[in-house]
Amino acid sequence: MIYLLEDEEGIRNIVVYALEQAGLEPFGFAMARDFWAAAREKPPDLVLLDIMLPDEDGLTVLKKLRAASATERTPVMMLTAMGAEYDKVRGLDLGADDYLAKPFGMMELIARVKSLLRRADGGASGGTGQAPPLAGDEYQAGLVKLSLKRRKVWADGTPVPLSFKEFETLAYLMKNKGIALSREQIMDHVWGYDYDGESRTVDVHVRSLRAKLGACEDVIETVRGVGYRISSD
Ligand code: CA
Repeated sequence: MIYLLEDEEGIRNIVVYALEQAGLEPFGFAMARDFWAAAREKPPDLVLLDIMLPDEDGLTVLKKLRAASATERTPVMMLTAMGAEYDKVRGLDLGADDYLAKPFGMMELIARVKSLLRRADGGASGGTGQAPPLAGDEYQAGLVKLSLKRRKVWADGTPVPLSFKEFETLAYLMKNKGIALSREQIMDHVWGYDYDGESRTVDVHVRSLRAKLGACEDVIETVRGVGYRISSD
């Protein structure tokens, strides 16, 4: 079930319609108090949250969702006005999972909703959000776990969504834990020998990998003059 808290009727109707067409189960609310009444009855699988609401602002709603055990891990996407509000809300970083600036297209909304639901599903598979025990196809470095078969990565138990190349890069490094790999080696392995790009591409991907790994970023060590290495703990 997807809860949409949005006081603008036009937006609410079209989003509910689009989500239904996508085979999802949306419920629209114009007022925070109705949203809370429904959430107490049945916690949502995902929340789409407007900011300016008549009875309670969306940021307060988000804080309360994160503070309640039933919804602390529920994916939340903030729907914000373009520009200053979008920047401010992102900058505050109150724990929303995604942000969409109005006006947005329905295809984009559906794609992001589905991606958030997939991520949440991956997180729930261990029950408590913990990565599953190590199997034959899994690698661990510090608090980072990677499953080749499931194509998933966890940082301290939390699923980390990676792009295809980011995953391949991290997998290659983790398989070679403790060994310094040159940018060229990584390039050849992940991008293929035919790829004509610059090795700086590797740096760009490692930088975004580290950003996504958050507090676990230092599992990827920079080896000066060579490339990168996964620390051997
Ligand atoms: Ca509004």
